[in-house]
Amino acid sequence: MNRLLSDLPMTKKLFWDDAYIKDFDAKIISIDGNQLVLDQTAFHPRGGGLVGDIGILGDGKVLDTVKGPDDSIIHLVESAAGLSIGSSVHGNIDWDRRYRIMRMHTSAHLLSAIFNKETGALITGNQIEPDKSRIDFSLENFDREKMLLHCKQANEAIAKNPSVKTYFMKREEALQIPGIVKLAAAAPPDVKELRIVEIEGYDIQADGGVHVKSLGEITKIDPLKFENKGKSNRRLYFTIP
Ligand SMILES: [Zn+2]
Repeated sequence: MNRLLSDLPMTKKLFWDDAYIKDFDAKIISIDGNQLVLDQTAFHPRGGGLVGDIGILGDGKVLDTVKGPDDSIIHLVESAAGLSIGSSVHGNIDWDRRYRIMRMHTSAHLLSAIFNKETGALITGNQIEPDKSRIDFSLENFDREKMLLHCKQANEAIAKNPSVKTYFMKREEALQIPGIVKLAAAAPPDVKELRIVEIEGYDIQADGGVHVKSLGEITKIDPLKFENKGKSNRRLYFTIP
């Protein structure tokens, strides 16, 4: 019998313990058409501007990963044939793609921190993808030279290779930290403990995503294009080697 998707236990997020887990074993707790839920997973779901992980579960493809109700994570599989509730399954995430997402994501935090520090800009949107990412800033002036300079400052930070740490902090305590939420109009989730991502010496953010352990892993940020997106919205496209 299929378990209702509205009645799911939470999925343990293995990527919070260790973002570098490439494969894992888990138990299937729900199958609904091509939507598969496990008791634990290393597949990171789409959200917060990040694309979802893809890869393999058992013998079949995972085409996308999304957030489900009650803190569950749904794997959208090509086919659930041969899989049954209660049985174990081995998962492999597409690591090359995922590692680029981690490097891109930490790059986006670093760029946001530097733009915020230098100009006071807030982030109005972002899209983190393996090949090319973008960030939108609320920025009064559209000054390409200055934006290029901030990208150069980001690369200087990468060259110093500071650590990137993740940990949990009590909500009230975390919200005291200036700039903990740089996304304009973003309210952190209504939970007792917030997950914090800190680039030592540069940035501290409430964030649920996957990141590299040290800034040097990014190697370099290549700005691709700056766009004027209306009154006070400036868009930066960038990539990494
Ligand atoms: Zn983030």
